[in-house]
Amino acid sequence: MKNSEVSIQRGENIIETVKKTLSLLGGLGNVIKKGETVLITPNYAVPIMSETGATTNPEVVVGVIGAAKEAGARNIIVAESSIVGFDAGRIMAELGVKQMFEKAGAKVLNLDENQHDVVQKKVTQGKLLKKIEIFKHAAECDVLISVPVLKTHIYTGVSLGMKNLKGTLPDAQKKIFHRVGVRKKTEEKFELDRCIADMMTVHHPDFTLIDGIVGQEGFVPGSGVCGAPVKMNTIIAGSDFVAVDSVGAYIMGRDPLHVNHIRYSHEMGLGEAHVENIPILGEHPDTVRREFRPAIPGEVGNYENVAVIEGGSCSGCSFALRWTLNAFKPLQIRKWDKTVFLVGSNSQLPGEIDGKPFLIGKCACKLPLKNAIKITGCPPPFWYVINRLKKAKRGY
Ligand code: SF4
Repeated sequence: MKNSEVSIQRGENIIETVKKTLSLLGGLGNVIKKGETVLITPNYAVPIMSETGATTNPEVVVGVIGAAKEAGARNIIVAESSIVGFDAGRIMAELGVKQMFEKAGAKVLNLDENQHDVVQKKVTQGKLLKKIEIFKHAAECDVLISVPVLKTHIYTGVSLGMKNLKGTLPDAQKKIFHRVGVRKKTEEKFELDRCIADMMTVHHPDFTLIDGIVGQEGFVPGSGVCGAPVKMNTIIAGSDFVAVDSVGAYIMGRDPLHVNHIRYSHEMGLGEAHVENIPILGEHPDTVRREFRPAIPGEVGNYENVAVIEGGSCSGCSFALRWTLNAFKPLQIRKWDKTVFLVGSNSQLPGEIDGKPFLIGKCACKLPLKNAIKITGCPPPFWYVINRLKKAKRGY
């Protein structure tokens, strides 16, 4: 049985809090051997400041780089691939974090730069995935450290250390994660959770440190950042990636066994998900616990003049549409004429409608509707959907 200890610390001084959290576990020397190559993957999936809770606080990453150096790592790499449609290198440069990590002694790697620098692994225990492509640097490093943010997610409920490893996969593989469920007859709404658990059987973090300095909850239409920030000043860390995510989910007010990818990973014997069985060091989770509002997918469909009809869509297109709506102010959206979005191959118009419906994604674009605005792609990038919509709604 692997060591499922999880350390929790709170504090205003970020570097000190990271240090204390790690020292309770005996430091990263328990994970890293002298001379090893360490790859740290934070969350810079979108070009948004960490103060919003959307991305990892750079000081947290600097703290981890310092601890890896102390443990004797030879090469320390901070590597990331953003969500499809963005470029992690640009994001890290624009947010000013690249320089911070280099100054702290790490090499910064934009995984998006070379989408073909991958290795393929068989997923023999996979329930959905039979093989997976992983960026070579992430697959071949000696020690992989996931440094996610404590936040909610519209499809997986929470987005923590396991889900954060999607940032080590090329775009083509990310898209498969988001659409595997489409062709399956299954009661599960989305199979993203299953893909994450399958990935964990062959590609998982050796250590996870959750940045709960500012977390993120809910879905705020028109905020431009997806959710609302939650100041927590908390760091959670450990080697058992299922246990760390379980404690993170618990702190967000969730039952970890109700978070599918956590439960699946636990059921596959990859780690501990029962919080009562996890040895906790430092703060008791109940002293930090706070209910995070869920990021409900339907929330942005609540405008009276906007209908979002989804049928057999996967999270790629659904998320692209939500991000797009999120880029407009609610007041602006309420001024639009009646607008219908169809997403997925099984979506259907409710009857006669005024105006042209928008078909989002390759699947919806195949629907036999002549009088429609087709926004193709699998999934279409956000910026493309936003631009098409801006053009169509000019004058509103
Ligand atoms: S077009 Fe959209 S719904 Fe269809 S497979 Fe691609 S991402 Fe999924």
